[in-house]
Amino acid sequence: SSWPSAGNLVFSDFSMRYRDDLPPALKNLSFALEGGLKIGICGRTGSGKSSTVLSLFRGIDQHLVTGKIVIDGVDISTVPLKMLRESMSIVTQDPFLWHGSIRENLDIINERTDAEIWEALKLVEMHDAVSALDDKLDHLVVDEESFSKGQRQLLCLARALLRNKKIIVLDESTSSMDHITDEKIRHVVDSQMKGFTVIAIAHRISTIVNYDKILVLDSGSIAEFDDPTVL
Ligand code: ATP
Ligand code: MG
Repeated sequence: SSWPSAGNLVFSDFSMRYRDDLPPALKNLSFALEGGLKIGICGRTGSGKSSTVLSLFRGIDQHLVTGKIVIDGVDISTVPLKMLRESMSIVTQDPFLWHGSIRENLDIINERTDAEIWEALKLVEMHDAVSALDDKLDHLVVDEESFSKGQRQLLCLARALLRNKKIIVLDESTSSMDHITDEKIRHVVDSQMKGFTVIAIAHRISTIVNYDKILVLDSGSIAEFDDPTVL
């Protein structure tokens, strides 16, 4: 499907809570991001960064939500859940790999050539690691064993590149433990994601200096929304 084609994102007076008896985790968020721009979401622990991403994928029951999130003019609450989740890519701190081959993991619906898969692996600097395996793209990914956490994150990034969705969500690791992986991801975002809408939860300033917008959350509300140069 072609939605979203521009990747325009609008939060409109959006609030959500995790349970009826809990206070809202996000309070009246309103901001707009033009398609093709990159936004970094910052804020202290518990400020609502993950909740914002969760809401974008409709991970919260509709009765706990008020206001709306609109992508390319479409209220996401009207989009079938499966379609919504297939319409965007996400790379998280706990990257998910299937118990299948590397090829299946990077190209789930089998729409890419091996050459394209190798090219994506090259871009995320995983080409050599996969080349070194006897069975290469046919290598079965078994969690924990085959690849480090950082490498699995890079494989998920390659998957996001191959999926070629207009909106890409990135969740940077909280710790500075895997600085090298973060640097590699930053490089791929800067060089390969021009024209894509990138929404990144960022813990380090270095990640977002090249971004177009910074959203700073504080206790579930917007504290700042501006160009990084202004902040
Ligand atoms: P961190 O930097 O620690 O990842 P965050 O900015 O991602 O923090 P959120 O996880 O979005 O913050 O949390 C926002 C608020 O919602 C916090 O008060 C948190 O305690 C609460 N919260 C988060 N997840 C849940 C949940 N599953 N059930 C209930 N409350 C939750
Ligand atoms: Mg979080």
